[in-house]
Amino acid sequence: MKRIKIAVQKKGRLSEQSISLLKKCGISFSQTNNKLIIRSTSMPVDILLVRDDDIPNLINQGIADMGIVGNNVLEEQESSGKCDSLIKEVMLGFSKCRLSLAAPKTKSFSDLNGLTIATSYPGILGKYLNENNIKANIVEIHGSVELTPFIGIADLICDLVSTGATLESNNLEEINIIIQSEAVLVTNSNTNNDELVKKLISRVVSVTDARNRKYIMFNADNQNKEELINMLPAAESPTVISLADTNKIAIHALCKENIFWETIDNLKEKGASSIVILPVEKLVS
Ligand code: ATP
Ligand code: ZN
Repeated sequence: MKRIKIAVQKKGRLSEQSISLLKKCGISFSQTNNKLIIRSTSMPVDILLVRDDDIPNLINQGIADMGIVGNNVLEEQESSGKCDSLIKEVMLGFSKCRLSLAAPKTKSFSDLNGLTIATSYPGILGKYLNENNIKANIVEIHGSVELTPFIGIADLICDLVSTGATLESNNLEEINIIIQSEAVLVTNSNTNNDELVKKLISRVVSVTDARNRKYIMFNADNQNKEELINMLPAAESPTVISLADTNKIAIHALCKENIFWETIDNLKEKGASSIVILPVEKLVS
């Protein structure tokens, strides 16, 4: 039987959640240090552990059938026309960040024309500058981009930001978001029709869709039914069950959004009791 190869980042910001997602999809394997390839014991799947920058190309060339990579890396490599057969299958909602322009707080630029921008993303930045008719110079640098404005290499930078703490500690101010990014499941147009690849994509969708969902159960007075149901965030039609005590009901509902303490307090105020909230592990529609 043909084995599917899935490429994930070996060590870095994408690794832990990529591995955890694959495990939730039923792909069991034991992680051993310094291995490039791990065989799954539960499915005909091999995991390739590589640098994130290599993932788009490995999938584009068909060496891996699918993989998980940041949208930023994908778009950068696509902008140079190298990865033309890649397909973004599922946005995965983790490793969220943005690629932004940032400038030293001490300077203010009214116009980017003629300035020099340091970045590890010359493709995405070049496209942005073209689309906005800006004539700026790009200096490609991999590593310590945030220091370049202070050593005379660049006027400003274009770099990844998640919380903004790194910019803040380097006295830089975010001035413009160029693209938003998160981890994405990628396949290639030659392999995405394979039965096992299709099955794995649908499992990834089920696990990803379940992430923010919660299942809530509580008891209440029948007379408060409508009001209580309306308090539930994005609930699908709830199940209402009569309890032995004739005035009491139990309400069970699948909520498409997280249930915060505020909602729980409001439910309690309206007489809800025995409130149980469960995480949803998989959601198959
Ligand atoms: P590798 O050794 O695999 O090349 P790397 O140093 O290029 O690793 P990481 O720093 O682990 O990569 O980041 C991997 C991805 O995590 C990024 O491409 C991006 O999609 C995402 N990410 C999320 N938040 C951040 C952040 N604050 N800074 C950098 N990347 C982030
Ligand atoms: Zn990398």
